[in-house]
Amino acid sequence: MISMNVRRWLTLSIMTSYLLLTTTGCSVNPVSGKKEFVMMSEQQEISMGAGLHKQVLKQYKPYNNAALQAYVNGIGQSLARHSHRNNIRYHFTVVDDPSINAFALPGGYIYITRGLMAYLNSEAELAGVLSHEIGHVTARHSARQQTRGTLTNVLASVIAKQAGAGSRQLINNVAVASVRGFGRKHELQADQLGAEYLARVGYDPHNMIKVIEVLKAQEEFSTFLARSEGRQPPSYHGTFSTHPSNDKRLQQVVGAANSVRSSRTRPDNRRGYLNRISGLKYNKTKKSLGQIRLVTARPGDTFASLARRSGIPKYAAQKLRLLNGMFPKGEPRPGQLIKVVQ
Ligand SMILES: [Zn+2]
Repeated sequence: MISMNVRRWLTLSIMTSYLLLTTTGCSVNPVSGKKEFVMMSEQQEISMGAGLHKQVLKQYKPYNNAALQAYVNGIGQSLARHSHRNNIRYHFTVVDDPSINAFALPGGYIYITRGLMAYLNSEAELAGVLSHEIGHVTARHSARQQTRGTLTNVLASVIAKQAGAGSRQLINNVAVASVRGFGRKHELQADQLGAEYLARVGYDPHNMIKVIEVLKAQEEFSTFLARSEGRQPPSYHGTFSTHPSNDKRLQQVVGAANSVRSSRTRPDNRRGYLNRISGLKYNKTKKSLGQIRLVTARPGDTFASLARRSGIPKYAAQKLRLLNGMFPKGEPRPGQLIKVVQ
C-alpha cells in the first residue's frame, strides 16, 4: 500500500504455514456468486486471519484510546453488516503507527493507522477507507491471490524468517509485495464494493474518490518536498497515474453505487469526525511527537499564520494544507474548523 508516505491501500495477505495444511477446492465467491477455485475454506480463512491478527498486533500496537477504537469499530460494523459477507465477524483496529495506511487480513481483520486517521477529514472518508478494506475481504482477494500463487515464494521466505526475526520490517516487506500482487484490478473492485457499502448505509459514495484524493495529495506532497529540496521526485509504481477525479473507470464504479443508495442518507459528519480525532498523536518529524488540535479560523488566518503556531519544522504551511485536505493552494475560510498540530 503505502511505501514512504504513499503506498496504495494495502491488503496484507501474509501466508503462514496454515496454507500448507489446507486443501484445495471450490467455493462460492460472496460477491460474484460464482463458484471459484480457491485454496481455503471460509473456516480456514478465518482461523488464518485470527492467527495473523496476533502477529500483526505484535508489530502494530493498538492505539490506546478506547473511545476512538469504539467509534471506528462502530462505523466499520455498520458497513460490514451491509456487505456481501455479513455472516463473518469483523474486527476493526486503529493501530498506533505514523504511516499512512490501512489493510485487511483474510477473515475480516481490518486495520487503520493513526497516521491515516490524522489526514482524513470526515466520518464519511473514514467509512470510505473501512469499506474499501471490507471490499477486499468480501471479494476474498487474498484467498484468490494465493490461489494464483503469485505470493507464495515471497511469503514462504517471510514465514521462514519470521520464526527467527519477526521484525516489523518483515511485515512491511510482505505488505509491499502484497500490493504489487493485488494490482489495479482488485483495487478497483475494492473501490467499487466500498462505494456500494457506503451507499447502502447512506453515505455519499463519492467519498471513496475523496479518500483516494487524500492519498494522491500525499504523493503530490512528496513530489513537492523532493523538488523543494533539489532531490529527484520519487516515482510511484502505484495506481494513480492520473488524478482520481479524472479516472473514468473509478468515476463509473463509484457513480454506479448511487443506484443502491439508502434513502436514509448520512451526512459526512466532518465536525464530528474532527472532534473525535482532536488530541490524536501526530508525528511532526520522525522523532518529535505532537497532537492534532482544532482551531476555528478567524478572518485573516492563513495556513502560513496557523503554521507559525504549529511548530512543524519545515514546509509547515503546506503540511497543514495537506492535513486539512487543501494541498497545494487552499486557505482556511473564516469560521472553518481547521486541524493544526501542537
Ligand atoms: Zn486495497
